[in-house]
Amino acid sequence: MEVIASLRGAKKEYKTGDTTIVALDNTSIDIENNRLTLIMGPSGSGKTTLLSLIGCVIYPTSGDVIIQGTDVTKLPEKRLAHIRLNNIGFVFQHFNLLNPLTALENVMQPLLLRGESKKQAKEKALAALEKVSMLDRKNNLPKKLSGGQKQRVAIARALVTDAAIILCDEPTASLDAKSASLVMEDLKQLAAGGKAVVVVTHDLRLRPFADRIIYVEEGKVSDKLKDEEAYK
Ligand code: ADP
Ligand code: MG
Repeated sequence: MEVIASLRGAKKEYKTGDTTIVALDNTSIDIENNRLTLIMGPSGSGKTTLLSLIGCVIYPTSGDVIIQGTDVTKLPEKRLAHIRLNNIGFVFQHFNLLNPLTALENVMQPLLLRGESKKQAKEKALAALEKVSMLDRKNNLPKKLSGGQKQRVAIARALVTDAAIILCDEPTASLDAKSASLVMEDLKQLAAGGKAVVVVTHDLRLRPFADRIIYVEEGKVSDKLKDEEAYK
């Protein structure tokens, strides 16, 4: 196991008018490869903020974010965009597939964006779809796929660039229990294959899939669940 991403005293505040919200208080955590790390917390606790910091989507107000040895808080926005495209794969609650494109074309997108040939993008996209058992649906438009199938295509899109880190924000929140466990099994498989997989959720039922659990409550990170009632 190896540390792939770290937060070092990272804090995120949002200012609206003359009030300041501390979305995430001083946080220091290490995210390792070969593991599925579950970040559990009730709604509004700071999970998406935490994931957005690891994903180089936002800068911390103070503290540092280190991705594969680089302190990204010192980098300009353009370099962050490069890291997002090459080192990180994202999976979202609402899949965020492009509706006019087939499953295969959706998975090819990140590769085309970074200038790879169509032929090479197609080969890699087919391999990624195979990993999530979606090869037989490669020519389907998103509207012809179930929620669980859409999410597996989204996972293929996240892994096609061979990013070291896969970040998932409530990936099962729009799915039925059966599809949710298929998606979690796929993510577990990716972690077993060497990726650093981070799954953010408010669903306590996902805990059995985790190699490690970090709780976030009211912007503070801990190893222990403090208030189970808050999750209901
Ligand atoms: P979660 O994902 O756990 O529901 P978030 O990280 O989205 O929580 O939000 C944590 C807190 O920060 C909440 O109080 C939320 O309202 C606030 N927040 C998040 N994003 C913004 C923003 N862009 N502007 C202002 N407040 C925000
Ligand atoms: Mg959220």
